[in-house]
Amino acid sequence: MDILKKFEISDPYEYVAHLKKATGKRVLAYMCSYTPEEIIYAAGIHPFRIFGQVEAISKADAHLQAYSCSLVRGALEDALQGRLSFVDGAVFPHTCDSIQRLSDIWRLNAGMKHHFDVVWAVKLHTDSARKYMYDVLVRFAKELKQSFGITLSDDTLQKAIATYNEIRSLLKTIWQLKSDNKSALTGSQMNAVIKAAMILDRDQVVSNLKELIPSIQLPPQTEKRKRIMLIGGICNHPDIYDYIETSGGVVVWDDLCTGSRYFEGAIATDKEPLRAIADRYYERNICPAKYRDYYTRAETIKTMIKTHNVQGAIFLYLKFCDPHSFDYPYLKEALDEVGVPSILLELEQQLPSEGQMKTRLEAFIDMI
Ligand code: SF4
Repeated sequence: MDILKKFEISDPYEYVAHLKKATGKRVLAYMCSYTPEEIIYAAGIHPFRIFGQVEAISKADAHLQAYSCSLVRGALEDALQGRLSFVDGAVFPHTCDSIQRLSDIWRLNAGMKHHFDVVWAVKLHTDSARKYMYDVLVRFAKELKQSFGITLSDDTLQKAIATYNEIRSLLKTIWQLKSDNKSALTGSQMNAVIKAAMILDRDQVVSNLKELIPSIQLPPQTEKRKRIMLIGGICNHPDIYDYIETSGGVVVWDDLCTGSRYFEGAIATDKEPLRAIADRYYERNICPAKYRDYYTRAETIKTMIKTHNVQGAIFLYLKFCDPHSFDYPYLKEALDEVGVPSILLELEQQLPSEGQMKTRLEAFIDMI
């Protein structure tokens, strides 16, 4: 499928640097799906998600302990090595401790002109938290305008909301098509499509996704391989999907921030725009760095398992990620209760050897 080539980005940094040169758009980098991208896009700035590319860390180790996750260390390394020189600034939403501390280090050392902290509430279960989330966005929009000397109207925000609602809804449709028919897309292709939606020009993303759908609209098919769900933070390892597929499984859904947590939940179009955006971030499926109550996340995952006929789950964590690790015991227990076997894979920026990965995956998938 030629259209899939439009989602293959061999060097995201080169792509965004080129986009900036061609359009004159300024670029704001981010690392977390709690970043209010819609406002950045409405401001005429290109939001660009960093996944931390480097393999060898040297400069970042002067600022971060070696037991920080590889996303945080890799992103800082890229900034300190000058690989992000085309980026005008960065946005740090209040999520895990590592991202928060990275914000301080980044502000002092990355040499970027613009820097924003979006200090969301942690507990998302009260009316005061909902109101506070709105106040946070009002402040962010104000800081963005002052820092870049731009205006931001309700009209441009509404247009951005429409674009993001369309991207998220198209991504969900594509994931569902892949879940229904293995021939629609491979797991690594799906991973590339979702990541590209966080890197490419967003208008281009809309047209690419629309172009992709007709070519993968195949009738639902009975799946003989074991239906697997991924649970975790980011997945920057397309190879994982290939290993699962060649070990007798197929990923049919996920609870990842490079997956369903990114696209679930539309923004209301009948409210004041900033309030509507804040409400989506308040209501969306939480990640473990947020709290709603003791059971919501497990219940959400159990619903996904039922909806997508999941037979086994793979917890895919970045090594040293505390929030996900803290959630693991109770999530595993919740899956055990409903009879869904699971396995925990802790990864770094570089995967263990193919043989090692496949041995573990084959053993797990065989016993489902
Ligand atoms: S992987 Fe975990 S520790 Fe790293 S940035 Fe994400 S939530 Fe934070």
